[in-house]
Formats: sequence, C-alpha cells, structure tokens
Amino acid sequence: MEIINRRQRMASVARRLRREEDKTIGLVPTMGALHEGHLSLVREARRMCDVVVVSVFVNPAQFGPGEDFQRYPRDLTGDTTKLSDYNVDYIFAPAPEEVYPKNFSTYVTVEGLSEPMEGVARPGHFRGVATVLTVLFNTIRPDFAFFGQKDAQQTLVVRRLVRDLAFDLEVVVLPTVREQSGLALSSRNAYLGEDGRRAAAVLYRALSQAREVYLEGERNPKRLAEAVRSQFDSEPRARLEYVGVVDAETMEKFDRLPEDRPVLIALAAHVGQTRLIDNIVIQPARQKTRTAAET
Ligand code: AMP
Repeated sequence: MEIINRRQRMASVARRLRREEDKTIGLVPTMGALHEGHLSLVREARRMCDVVVVSVFVNPAQFGPGEDFQRYPRDLTGDTTKLSDYNVDYIFAPAPEEVYPKNFSTYVTVEGLSEPMEGVARPGHFRGVATVLTVLFNTIRPDFAFFGQKDAQQTLVVRRLVRDLAFDLEVVVLPTVREQSGLALSSRNAYLGEDGRRAAAVLYRALSQAREVYLEGERNPKRLAEAVRSQFDSEPRARLEYVGVVDAETMEKFDRLPEDRPVLIALAAHVGQTRLIDNIVIQPARQKTRTAAET
C-alpha cells in the first residue's frame, strides 16, 4: 500500500494502471477517521475492482463558517492501519493546497437536488462536495466510485453530477452501517460521550417509527414527519433540525405519497453540540401480480 499526497503522482499512477496494466480502479472518497461504515465501502470496492484507492481528505470547501472543519477528527495513522488490513492499494491523502491550488476559482454546483434539506441547513455544502469529487474523479479516473446511503442526498447529488458531466464511472451506493442501537456509524459520533450516544439512538428510532406508520397505511408525509417529531419529543437530549419525506430518487415533495415510488425519510438532529444526519428509504410494496411460479 502506498500513501500518495500529490495530485500529480496520483494522476500518473492511475494513468499507468489504466493504460498499461488495464486495471479497473475503484475509488472510495472519505474524510478519514474511518469506521465500519467506510470499511464496508472498501470491502465492496476490493471485491469489485482490481485496484482500490481510498481518498482521505477533510474537504474545507464542504464546511460552512462556524462548522467543525478545524476540529473534525483526523487520524491518518489509524486509517492507514485499517486500510492495510483491507488490502487497499493506495491512500490518496492530499493537503488542501494540492486539491485547491493557488487561485483555484472553479466550482461545481448541482442545482435542484442540492437545494432542500442539507442544502438549506448547510448552504454551499454540496457545491464543496461536487467540486472535490470532480477533482478526484478527474485525477484518478476511477471505473467505480463507492458511497454510503448514510448520506442519502449526497448520493443523489453525486449520481446527477456523474450523469450531467459525463464522468465515465459507475456510482455504487451501499447500505448504512449501524450500531446495535440503530445509531448510524459516523466519524462525528466521536464527539458524543456515552450519554450522547444513547441519546443519539433516537434518530433511527424516530425513522423506524415513521416506517411503522407508513406500513400501517399512512401516506400523508406530514403524518410521517409527526411520527418522527413525537419520538424526539420524548428525548430531551436531542433536538430535531429538520425531517423531510420525499421521493427517494427525485427528492420531489408530495401531498400524498405514491404507492409505486420509494420514499426517503431524512433528518438532521443535534445531540449537544454534535450535528448528526440519518435516513431510511421505504421501497414500494411489490406489485401483487402472480408470477408464473405461483400459478
Ligand atoms: P465521510 O468520511 O463522512 O465523508 O464518508 C465517506 C463515505 O462513507 C460517504 O460515502 C458516506 O456516505 C460513507 N459512510 C459514512 N458513514 C457510513 C455508514 N454508517 N454506513 C455506510 N456508509 C457510510
């Protein structure tokens, strides 16, 4: 495993692998402080691709003023140990000035999908994400790029970015990895104490409650949002910032949820000073047509 810090070096290594060795390249973009959620992406990349590159870069462009860019957990030594256990080929860990050289002035905005939910809460966040991914995709030219469902809106933004700008790669999205309590793994969980961690289980509990209400037949998105809110009402240590109930592919809002479309329920909440996000997708019930095997 090699750790690469320079953009030029990363580009030339990737070029050689592609052109001379005809290897498929899988990229797992991360901000480091790796946990089982990240590692699930790495495992799948390892399974699917000849060469696995994990980028570890706390991207300043996706943090707003007053957010946790400075104190975001950084542990390249620990990350390196974990990734060598997973047989990763390259860690790309550039300094900010490698990604954003002097006078950097070109940014990528994915309109529409970037605007609701996280877009309202964190203006400029997805512009930072789309921009850094554009630089990473152009540097490495991966065949596959791996993302977690944990960041549901990000996956939609990334798919749109890849389609619209014609990146020649396939986006692979993998399920959210959770603790036993349901709490989604996140590098930011490191900010939580034992008590905060227990309180943070309310995020998934609330989403699960909304799913129950949906499965009982409720199709009014406001009622599903109420089901989420009522769980937060019973957990004083957590504060709900928003909950959105939208089409899982288009983020379109509905007055009444259609039966034939997947529904995304996504939320952000604060536990003490820590901001967390989580979501679930409810797939439409399978159509009740009889298959040949059943007849
Ligand atoms: P981050 O380091 O937070 O930027 O995350 C890097 C990638 O790991 C993103 O695609 C995330 O969606 C994904 N990820 C983070 N947490 C989880 C999790 N609990 N389960 C699955 N994927 C995750």
